[in-house]
Amino acid sequence: MIRIALIGCTGNIGAQVAETVRAYPEEFTFSALACGKNASGLSALAREFRPAVALCEEGTPELPASVKQVGSPEELFADCDVAFIAAGGFAGLRYTLAAAEAGRKIALANKESLVCGGELVMRAVRETGAELIPVDSEHSAIYQALGCRREGTFSRLVLTASGGPFLRLSEGELKKVTAKDALRHPTWSMGAKITVDSATLLNKGYEVLEAKWLYETELSKIGAVVHPESIVHSLVYFQDGAALAQLGYPDMRLPIQLALTAPARMACCKPLDLAEIGALHFERLPEERFPCFRLALQAGEAGGTCPAILNGAGEEAVRAFLNGSISFPQIAETIGDALAGIPREETATYAALKEADVRARERARHFIYGK
Ligand code: MG
Repeated sequence: MIRIALIGCTGNIGAQVAETVRAYPEEFTFSALACGKNASGLSALAREFRPAVALCEEGTPELPASVKQVGSPEELFADCDVAFIAAGGFAGLRYTLAAAEAGRKIALANKESLVCGGELVMRAVRETGAELIPVDSEHSAIYQALGCRREGTFSRLVLTASGGPFLRLSEGELKKVTAKDALRHPTWSMGAKITVDSATLLNKGYEVLEAKWLYETELSKIGAVVHPESIVHSLVYFQDGAALAQLGYPDMRLPIQLALTAPARMACCKPLDLAEIGALHFERLPEERFPCFRLALQAGEAGGTCPAILNGAGEEAVRAFLNGSISFPQIAETIGDALAGIPREETATYAALKEADVRARERARHFIYGK
């Protein structure tokens, strides 16, 4: 029985983890459940799965008597086999750090943990021998192509990108798109924040940074290519020109389940029918029309607290776009302003990252609302 501490249990990925546990009740159980604000969602899951402990950051869940409410990430990971980090945004970092410091096996679905806190997280992973398994579909594909490992003698990593719903739009057309348009992702069904990040290609920039830390390589060795069908989930290139990829229908259940069982596999998704799919297409990433991709890479190259500034401003900008306060191109403008205007700290301690996150949000709100 694999005991899972699930952080972000009421979000989109969290719900799919719960589905996996329901599909294999003999194999998986929840030892801990945690969420941000959705107290009633947590209460329902706690009644169903009866974890030993639960945590709700804001709000008062109604928990069964057998479920102990705890207040710190450390208590969630005290007794589990896998720490599944499915919380969204910068908020996920402190859980990933706590799990890494506890030396746990970590199924990582929160990309901000590595984007913002890569250095900190990887240091803790090295020190404690914690195991890091990617859940992001692209990184899971690379992990699988490397034989369910993070190490390999590859020469290059290439992430595939669906290109999002606005791939074909001109700069003029991009000024007029709405939140509703952005939330119509062509291939993947995800939460609102990441769906908008997919449309701006900020998500793909994040994933390049995430791959740099996971596979301990340089940014110059990581590329991205548009692949609208989302069937090839990413590729690993080797010195002799060989490329290995993982293929499958776009379905997060597979990387979620594999992160729990790797290197073992269990039945999960419908196998691919290539003849049914027909053609697969690939093209260059349209970086000129989607400046967020470049901004992410620049922040990654600068290092220190820059990625946290990028992320803090990005989270505020996406919220403002979703509530109709700014246009789609203004998401990139908001992030660019924060990166240009907030001094970078060289040493990315948790306190420095948190401070950068707060300052970036303040500056972004000022940029957007003028106050
Ligand atoms: Mg992804």
